[in-house]
Amino acid sequence: MIIILFGPPGAGKGTQAQFLVNNFKFLQVSTGDLLRLEIDNNTEYGSQISNLIDKGKLVSDELMNNILDAYLSKLVENKNIIFDGYPRNLYQAKNFPKLLAKYNLTLNKVFFLNVDRELIRKRISGRVICSKCKKIFNKDIKDHEYNNHKCGEDFLVKRKDDSDETILKRYDLYIKDTSQLIDFYKSHKGFCEIDGNMEITQINEQIKGFLNV
Ligand code: AMP
Repeated sequence: MIIILFGPPGAGKGTQAQFLVNNFKFLQVSTGDLLRLEIDNNTEYGSQISNLIDKGKLVSDELMNNILDAYLSKLVENKNIIFDGYPRNLYQAKNFPKLLAKYNLTLNKVFFLNVDRELIRKRISGRVICSKCKKIFNKDIKDHEYNNHKCGEDFLVKRKDDSDETILKRYDLYIKDTSQLIDFYKSHKGFCEIDGNMEITQINEQIKGFLNV
């Protein structure tokens, strides 16, 4: 099954994707992560990507397509994939079926996580990631997961592109492009809008319902 999970930065896409990975053996393909990997590996596009991400801008559609295509071409077993962060605009949405078809895949579900702007700001400004286990937490909401995090606080770091200014830029850009994406996908038979303001577990349940599992 091929799923797109989309929604503004901070909507909880990463958290919900982790839920699907852990419980239903999905492979999560996050284009943000693929791009950060290019930066970390100092590839020929690394510094160009780093500049764009730091400014809250999107990477060009062509470069994004090439990086995603190269990643998909290396997958051996790829039956259940959640795409997190792609497509991000109308061009990418139109390109997506062609990219999937190249690997004999078709899109089944489109989950749109819709969240209020103020809640997004709150969530992202407190967001930290563990550099060891890669789990995401919120230092302002010290929940059960945070308190039981085994690696300890020393590994918790803020993502470079999670500053307040960048958050708002990314949010505004996202909103501009999202309306077109929603229009594009709302006639898709697998389109499901989810209220991302709900508690994580409630969202998990709703997603399970949409997946019929
Ligand atoms: P994310 O981790 O999804 O929030 O993405 C972090 C940054 O990577 C974004 O702000 C963009 O600069 C870039 N990015 C991620 N996905 C895409 C995409 N599909 N197209 C272009 N740029 C992207």
